[in-house]
Amino acid sequence: MIRLKNVTKYYNSENNVTLALNNINLEFFKGEFVAITGKSGSGKSTLMNVISGMDTYQDGEIFFEGMETSCFSKEDWENYRRDKISFIYQSYQLIDSYTALENVEAVMRIMGVENKKERRQKAMEILDKVGLKKRARQKASHLSSGQKQRLGIARALAKDTDIIIADEPTGNLDVENGAAVMKMLYELSKDKLVIVVTHNFEQVKEYATRKIRLFDGEVAEDVKLKPELYENGVWKEKEAIVPKERKKEHFFRQAVGFVRLNRKAQPHRTFFVFLFLTVSIAALFVMYGYLLSNMDDSVTKNASQDVFMNTDKNRILVRKPDGSPFTEKDYDTLMDVRYVHSINPYDLASEISCLHEANKDYQVHYQQSEYTSRKSITVNALDYSDFTCNAAGVEQELIAGKLPEKRYDVVVASDDESLIGTTTDIYFRSQNWPESIYIGGTFQITGIVNSELGQPYFSDLFLSGINFDYANKNLQIEYHVLKTITDSVDAKYNREELLDRRRDTILVEGEGLTGNQIRLSESLIMNLKTEDNSEDRVTTIERLYSQGTLIDKTDSENPVEYQVEVLEDGHNGSVNVVEASREFMEQVYGSMQETQISVYIDDYAYTDRVIDTLNEMGYQAVSVFRISADEYDSVLVQERMTALGISAGSLIVIFFLSVVVIYTIMKLKRKDFMILTSLGLKQKTILFMNRYELVTGSILSCVLLICVAIIAEKYQIFVISDLTKYYQVWDYGIVTVLAVLMSWITAELFHRHLRKFLGGKQ
Ligand code: ADP
Ligand code: MG
Repeated sequence: MIRLKNVTKYYNSENNVTLALNNINLEFFKGEFVAITGKSGSGKSTLMNVISGMDTYQDGEIFFEGMETSCFSKEDWENYRRDKISFIYQSYQLIDSYTALENVEAVMRIMGVENKKERRQKAMEILDKVGLKKRARQKASHLSSGQKQRLGIARALAKDTDIIIADEPTGNLDVENGAAVMKMLYELSKDKLVIVVTHNFEQVKEYATRKIRLFDGEVAEDVKLKPELYENGVWKEKEAIVPKERKKEHFFRQAVGFVRLNRKAQPHRTFFVFLFLTVSIAALFVMYGYLLSNMDDSVTKNASQDVFMNTDKNRILVRKPDGSPFTEKDYDTLMDVRYVHSINPYDLASEISCLHEANKDYQVHYQQSEYTSRKSITVNALDYSDFTCNAAGVEQELIAGKLPEKRYDVVVASDDESLIGTTTDIYFRSQNWPESIYIGGTFQITGIVNSELGQPYFSDLFLSGINFDYANKNLQIEYHVLKTITDSVDAKYNREELLDRRRDTILVEGEGLTGNQIRLSESLIMNLKTEDNSEDRVTTIERLYSQGTLIDKTDSENPVEYQVEVLEDGHNGSVNVVEASREFMEQVYGSMQETQISVYIDDYAYTDRVIDTLNEMGYQAVSVFRISADEYDSVLVQERMTALGISAGSLIVIFFLSVVVIYTIMKLKRKDFMILTSLGLKQKTILFMNRYELVTGSILSCVLLICVAIIAEKYQIFVISDLTKYYQVWDYGIVTVLAVLMSWITAELFHRHLRKFLGGKQ
C-alpha cells in the first residue's frame, strides 16, 4: 500500500545537518499492525510525518498504492491527508476549546458530513465506542489523559481511513490506560494499516504483526512477528483496493460552519476580536470624519461683505430660474428638504444688521432741539454681526411666551422670562444705506428664546415692511419749511421765509397709512428744521408744510417725483426714515413678492447636500458664505493643512496598527489551525475561514457604529454628531470598505503566517 524507496531526510540548521532518515526502504500493507521502536531521536516521528504527508523529504520516493507521490500537487497532498491518514499523537492534538463531541464533529465536517443531525448521531456513536459518551459535552481540555487519547482514537474512527498512524499514543498514559488504548487501536486495525510508534514494545507485542526498529535514521531491524501472514516478506492477503466513497466537502459551508463553531467555542476570544475590531473601526470613522470636516477649503477663508452683509455659514440663497416669486407651496416643499432648518422669505431684510445691545452693538446720543420741543436721538452702530431674522425660524427654541405678531413685537434671547411684556430698544442699520440712516425703536417683548441664540427675532409683518432693495434706490425727501423770523436788532418786523429742505432717506412701511400718506421720524423733522441757523435771529417759529415731495434719483437723468402728504405725528428712533403705506412703497420699490429667499440649514456641513437637492428640485441655490469667502486666512489654512495631515496620517496608522494587533490576536489560535490542517482541512478553507471571520466581524462592527452614528446625529449627541454631520451615505460606505479591506489584509497576513508556521507540504 505504501512503499518507501531510499527515502532520505535531513534537517539543516545553522551550522550542522542532522540526518533524520537515511536511505529508508520499507513497504507497508493493508492489514498490518506495525510496531515501530527505537531510541529517542532515531527518526521515528520523522518517518511518521513523512508517511502521513505532513513533512517533506529530500531524497528517494514514496509510492502510494503504486503512485509516485513526488508528482502530488499541494491539493493531492491535502486530499491524501484528509482521506487516507488518521494520525494519533502522543500530545493528543485536540482542540482544547471544543467539547469532545465538537472535536469528533470537526473531523466529520472536514470529511464533508454536512448534515448536522447525521454528524451528531455518528459522533455520539463513536464516542460511545471509545467510552466517552458521558464526556461528550465536556471541553477537551477538561478531560483526563486517558480520555484525551481515547478522543484521539475517536477522531481516527470518525475519519475511517485505511491508514492509521499513532506516534507514541501511550507515551503520556499510565499502564492501564495505555493498554486500553492499544487494544482499541488493534480493534480498529482490521482491514487497515496501523503503524504504532512505541517505547514499550510489550504493550503491542500481542497485536503487532511486524516490528521495525530504527537506529540513527536507518532501519536496524524489520521482523515479521506473525510470519504466517506473510509470504516472501509480502502480505499474503491480496490487497483489494476498494476506493471509498468520499464526500466532496462544500468549502463555503464548511468554512462558515467552523467559524460559527469557533465563535461559540471561544466566546472570550470572539468578544475580544469583535471589541478590538469595533474600537479600531471607530477610530477609522473618527479620523475619516475629521478628514471630511477639513475637506472644504472655504472654511479657511474669511468672508468679505462686499456682496452680502449677512455671510451666515448656514445661509443658502434660493431663487427660481424664471425669477418668479415664491409661493406658500414652495415654502412647504423647501421646509421638507432634509437639513433645512428654517426659511427666511425676507431675504433682503436679513441683510440688515440688528443692533440690540446698548454699548456693545450701538451707542445712543440724545439731542434736544433749540427750536422745538422735540427730542431726537442718533445711534452710533458698533457691531454689524447680528442680522434681522424672522421668528418663524426659531419656533422650536421658544422657551416662554409666544411668537411676535404685531409689527413691533419681538422675541429676545434670554433666560429671564420676566422680560415678557416689557419693552426693549432695537435699531437696524445697513451698510448699504446712506451714512447715519438707521431704523429703530421700541419693541414689545412677546417671548423668550434660548439665550444661546443671542439675538432678537421679529414678526413677519415687521420684516416684510423693511424687505426692500434699499441698496438700489437713491431717495430724497424734499420738504418746505416756513420760517417766521423776528429780527434780532430791533424786533420791529416779522419776515416769513419759505425754505426748501432735502434729505437722503429710506422708506419703511408704517402702521395706519394709506395712499401717499407718509410719516417722518422725529429726527428727520428736527434735521429738516434746524439746518441753517443764523446767529442774528432771535426767535424763529417754524412749521412744516403738510405737502412734500419724494424724489427717486436712482436714474439721475430722469428723477421720479412723488407728491406726499405728511401726517402731523412723527415716529421715534429713526433717522432720515420715512414711513409710508405698503401701496406707496410698492410704487417706489416695485413688487413686494419675494423672488429671492434664504434657506437656513442645520449646519454648514450639509451645504453641498442641500444645494444639490435644491438644484435637482429645479431651484437655483448658492451658499452665501462660499460666494463671499474669497480671502484665505493663512492661520486657518495652516490649521487645515495640519488637520488634513493628522487625519490622513492617523487613518493610515490606525489602519495598519489594527492589522498588526488583530493579526497578533489571530496568531494565538494558530495551534488549532495546525490541528485542523493535520486532520485534512484545506488551506483554501482555512484562508476563507479567516477572511469570513474577520470580514463579517468588521461588517457587524460597522453596522453597529453606523447605528450609533445615526442615533447620535438624531439626538445631537455631543462630539459624535459633530463628526457625523460631515458623513454622507457613501462616506459610511467608504469606511466600511476600509474596514473590510483591513480585515482582508489581516486575514491574508495571518494566512501567510500559518503557511510558514505549518511548513512542510502545506
Ligand atoms: P524520534 O521521534 O525517534 O525521537 P525524531 O524523528 O523526532 O526522533 O528526530 C530524528 C532526528 O531529527 C533527531 O536527531 C532530531 O533531533 C532531529 N529533528 C527532528 N525534528 C527536527 C527539526 N524540526 N529540526 C531539526 N532537527 C530535527
Ligand atoms: Mg518522536
